[in-house]
This record gives sequence, C-alpha cells and structure tokens, in this order.
Amino acid sequence: MRRPALNWRMQLTFLGTGADSAYPLAFCACEICRVAREKGGKNLRRRSSAALDADLLIDLGPDSIQAMLHFGLNPAGLRFLLQTHPHHDHFDQNHLATRISEYRGRMAQPLEIVASRGTLHRMTSMLQGMGFDGDLLKAKSHAELNISVQVIEHGQTLQLGQRRVTAFTANHDSSAECLIYAVEQGQSSLLYATDTDSLPEETLQAIRRADLTFSTVVLDHTYGPGCNGGGHLNAARFQHTIDRFRHQGVLREKAKIYATHLSHEGNMEHDQLTRYAARHGYTIPWDGLGITL
Ligand SMILES: [Zn+2]
Ligand SMILES: [Zn+2]
Ligand SMILES: [Zn+2]
Repeated sequence: MRRPALNWRMQLTFLGTGADSAYPLAFCACEICRVAREKGGKNLRRRSSAALDADLLIDLGPDSIQAMLHFGLNPAGLRFLLQTHPHHDHFDQNHLATRISEYRGRMAQPLEIVASRGTLHRMTSMLQGMGFDGDLLKAKSHAELNISVQVIEHGQTLQLGQRRVTAFTANHDSSAECLIYAVEQGQSSLLYATDTDSLPEETLQAIRRADLTFSTVVLDHTYGPGCNGGGHLNAARFQHTIDRFRHQGVLREKAKIYATHLSHEGNMEHDQLTRYAARHGYTIPWDGLGITL
C-alpha cells in the first residue's frame, strides 16, 4: 500500500542568518559592515531562525515574526516552536507574552513548545522580568498562554505531528542546556545546529547511535575564515565538523550543507563568502531563501 506521507519533503525557509548582533553590526565602520550596508540585499541578515513548512518555527527570536510576515508565512498558523536555547537573539519574550489575555489576542490554536528544562527556566525568568507571574513548566501557565510544553533532553526523540525530533547537546552556554535538533519527515532529514562550538564527543556518538543520516545540515558559522572566537564555530571548525560528519557516515550522498549565524567577524560580503564556501563544499544562505530538504 502506498503511504504518501513517506514521499513528503519538508520546506525550510531561512528567516534569519545573522549572529546575535545581526549583520552588519549596528554602529560598525569595519570594511565588512561598510560593504554589507552599501550592497544591501543578501548582505542584510536578521538574527538566526528558520521555519519548517508553514507550521514549525525554530527559535522565536526578535526578528522571526517580522521575517515570517516579510517572506509570506503566517505566524498565527504556527503549531510548533522548537527552541534551541534562550539567548536574546533566539528568544524574544515579548512575542510569547502577547499570548497572555491582557493583549486581547484570539489564539486560533495552541502552540506546542519544545525545549530543554534549562532553556524553559531561563525563558520563564525572561517573561517574569516583564511582569508575567507564571512558569512555563506549570500547567496553569500553559492554559493561560494556550501552549503545551514538552521538555526534551539530549538523545531524546519526540513525535511532533508527522515529524520526529531528536535533541542533542550543543557546545554553548552549559547553564542554559542548549540543544541542536535533528528533524525527520518522510525522505527529509535535517540537522539544525546553531549556536554551538565544536560538537561534544557525546553528541557525535549519540547522532551515530540514533542511526540518523542527514539530507541537509544547517550549522553555526559565526566567525569567518581566519577569525577565532569562543562559544561558536569559525570557518575552519565548521569545515572540520562537516568532515567529522562525513567520516561518521551521517551525511547522505548529496547532502547540502548551509552556514548560518554569520557575524561580521571574518564573514565577507555575500558573493565573496559564497565563492569561499563553494570551494569548501558548502552554501551561504540568505534571509528568505527557501529550500526543499
Ligand atoms: Zn545566537
Ligand atoms: Zn563590522
Ligand atoms: Zn547563543
């Protein structure tokens, strides 16, 4: 018997591809920021987030909702939020707070939020900082916000509608239990991995144990060629991570590799960075790029 769901391929829309400070940096006069402002277009990067099809958002960042509207997606149609971690460039509590009754919104459907316990604690504190007296881990708040919450841990798999989501530990601010996510549906299999520095050995092992192979990888590339910094990957460590994946056999034959979370530190203007990435076997996306996984 034919099962059409198995042939389904997910669509990913890059809503933002910039680092925490966006790109170019607000007040920066460096050559990279100067050229980015002058050329505009693909050089203007919002804070990183992505949509899967029309119903799943990865990271409710400060720019995510406006980006969805700009790129023809409907935020009111979202059913699922996968939150990697609570840093301000990935979670803007003001957006979630608009689900509180004081805003007089009419929530057509519940939003299912998936995050680590540490991330949910931090998100709660951020909401409390603006006067919310609830707790994202408590049922009373779920009713108040019309959300459901699933706590996910390293190595755990959840079913979200038609999709299977597996979480792995990132190498990034251990106090917030930051996660990267594998999302599978039908023939599509995505690894979305920002923010992270070189992946912990336990994560590489767990990906192998989970028997996952990826058709698409979206990976942190905060620092460009020749630039070094902590908490995130640079171009060299990005390429090393992809090599590790290849050696482990977790990349499918024609797997597509995308860089994201790009900062002005070493990441040249779009066309130049695209040529550099092509020489190393990966792609530089831009805000609004839609791909079939
Ligand atoms: Zn970030
Ligand atoms: Zn700059
Ligand atoms: Zn971060």
